[in-house]
Amino acid sequence: MEFPGCETKNIALPRLNNLRPTLESTALKLMEEAGELGAAIGKLRGMNGEQVTAAGPAVYRAICRELLDVAQTAITMMYVLEEQHGVDIDQALAEHVEKLLAKGYLKL
Ligand SMILES: [Mg+2]
Repeated sequence: MEFPGCETKNIALPRLNNLRPTLESTALKLMEEAGELGAAIGKLRGMNGEQVTAAGPAVYRAICRELLDVAQTAITMMYVLEEQHGVDIDQALAEHVEKLLAKGYLKL
């Protein structure tokens, strides 16, 4: 999909071929990884009042690692939706972009 006039970030993530994911297992994993991302953002930066255990660039690298875990899990769930539940991800993506345009978050 092209987004004329918009910057894009394209990241290729692999289809994991040594797992047997389901909608439920990927949903749980997504919540787990989202929690780890929240912990990296808050806990590692001392926002919960605890002693900070990491500092500086290491914190942001940890945040990025957890963000990639979230993205990988989201990609895995997209494969599950396509292959096990017949969802057309390309059509869903087109509808997603329409939603962003309608909400005014994106202008093409
Ligand atoms: Mg993680």
